Amino acid sequence: MEPCRGAGPWPRTLTARLSVRPPMSDLLADLRAALLFQREIAGPWVPRVEVPVDGEAAPDAVHPASRDDAAATADSSASAAPRAASAVSPASPDDLPDDDAMPPIDLFGNDAPAPAEASGSPYDRIEALVPEGHPVKDCTTLAEVEAVAQNTVFIPLDEERIRPVFGSGNPHAELMIVGEAPGADEDRTGEPFVGRAGQLLTKILAAVGMSRDDVYITNILKSRPPGNRDPEPEEVAAHLPMLYKQIALVRPKVLLCVGKTAGNALLGKRSSLAALRDREHDYHGLPLFVTYHPAALLRNEQWKRPTWEDVQLMRAALDRETAA
Ligand code: URA
Repeated sequence: MEPCRGAGPWPRTLTARLSVRPPMSDLLADLRAALLFQREIAGPWVPRVEVPVDGEAAPDAVHPASRDDAAATADSSASAAPRAASAVSPASPDDLPDDDAMPPIDLFGNDAPAPAEASGSPYDRIEALVPEGHPVKDCTTLAEVEAVAQNTVFIPLDEERIRPVFGSGNPHAELMIVGEAPGADEDRTGEPFVGRAGQLLTKILAAVGMSRDDVYITNILKSRPPGNRDPEPEEVAAHLPMLYKQIALVRPKVLLCVGKTAGNALLGKRSSLAALRDREHDYHGLPLFVTYHPAALLRNEQWKRPTWEDVQLMRAALDRETAA
């Protein structure tokens, strides 16, 4: 179902009609009708997302799970986008697209008060994204979350994998790197990014003066999708709370997502990599960057330069945040 944004006459038409200030009973009837329209016809509100334009999908056209796999098939933006969209996490502050950025108005056409500032530290806000009742909700250490990852079947992949790939590196890292899902090498070893793409990631880190021991590396999915297929939205939704907890417990100053799937899953978008990269996102108060997946770079040399630029941007933000 189409998201309700722009899907009908409300709220703009309703607001215009209200400028003549009808009696309160009409107002309430209008409001009720509008809400019914939104709920029953248009479906639940979802964040408006950037629509990839032709040609933008190419940089992401890498299969994530084993980007080392040269046979990985290209992903069309048309098929990737809806899946990523339904796997969204709660909206992040920069979620709204430009054409939804018109000033909010109340029922009388006046400017609505600005929404209250989200309170709490970024880590509190991200931890609050873990749904009530999720097995990691009350975990207070990474070891506890990892135990849940090892012992819980959230999705069929959790039974099919050889080993869960939870995360590795410095548990107090200032930089957290988020990939998409384990590949074959990672499935075998239980460690993220150990294949060829992982080796390239190590070089990328070295280029900004960091080693793998400095950072914490994890993935959106903790289990390998068979045949290196894209994660399904339900799979992402089931595993994302573990990542929220990892962020809340590691408390990185900056997040770096490699590949559009990781970026979109956290940001609640379904954008092309071209639209996600080369900028700083605000993820519940944490600077977040998105760049090419290292496996994409293995097959597309020309993306090394923009990746270099992205990690320079990321590094500058990290320096800024750690100096603060
Ligand atoms: N690709 C990923 O996204 N993650 C890994 O851990 C390995 C390859």
